[in-house]
Amino acid sequence: MQRHHFTIDVEEYFHVAAFAPWVLPADWSRWPSRVARSVDRLLALLADHEARATFFVLGWLAQRHPEVVRNIAAAGHEIASHGWDHARVTGQAPVAFRTSVRRTKQLLEALTGSSVLGFRAPSFSIIPGQEWALDVLIEEGYRYDSSLFPVRRRGYGYPNGRREPHWIDRAGGRLLEVPPATARWGGVTIPAGGGAYFRVFPYALFRAAFRDHERRGIPATFYIHPWEIDPEQPRVAVPLLTRLRHYTGLARTEVRLGRLLSEFRFGTIAATVARA
Ligand SMILES: [Zn+2]
Repeated sequence: MQRHHFTIDVEEYFHVAAFAPWVLPADWSRWPSRVARSVDRLLALLADHEARATFFVLGWLAQRHPEVVRNIAAAGHEIASHGWDHARVTGQAPVAFRTSVRRTKQLLEALTGSSVLGFRAPSFSIIPGQEWALDVLIEEGYRYDSSLFPVRRRGYGYPNGRREPHWIDRAGGRLLEVPPATARWGGVTIPAGGGAYFRVFPYALFRAAFRDHERRGIPATFYIHPWEIDPEQPRVAVPLLTRLRHYTGLARTEVRLGRLLSEFRFGTIAATVARA
């Protein structure tokens, strides 16, 4: 039976890129932390369904909550890197990106005693023209990337990217690219990988996309954030559209996750990389 990838981007509700103009990094430590309890609930949900997952953790968060990282690893899941402070690759100089992915990998490895193989850019921000970031990842010892979202969206997306896991060969070596799941509707590629889409779109769309991946014999890569199962999180005063996107469906996400975990089998991306 096909194993899919269940992935979690481990960050706080106030790290969301759409909140950036209203929540400054200098103020992050003043917002109440909610991540530990949501991660605990995700770990319980995964254990109930005997699923393994990949957790992409922010270095900033790992430094403040090392026990969260240790708990995830102790439960048998994979720890991977989400960069240090949620800066988008599109706004980063290569030297700053290198520092971020190096520092995060070193800290996560020190906390768990295991190699960190994978990276996911905040907001899937490796877009056409930013491929230098893949070279940096190879040079820094990463084995796979999960940042190229093969959809056309404002501010992110890698529209001509392949929809299945594939090797990317660069001058310095190769990297397995593991894109988030997508579906094809009427000749258009649409996101079917998780996040706000999973909270807002009908569940049946995701089931159909996962079954389609199984017919093609490839894993679907699903992603979610701890704050997406936390309806009690402190509210941030942001404009209406941002508010709708962030807060819609929070109360039903945990039930939907249980459904997805019941209907499909999940493993880590590291396991796929080991077989590739
Ligand atoms: Zn993120």
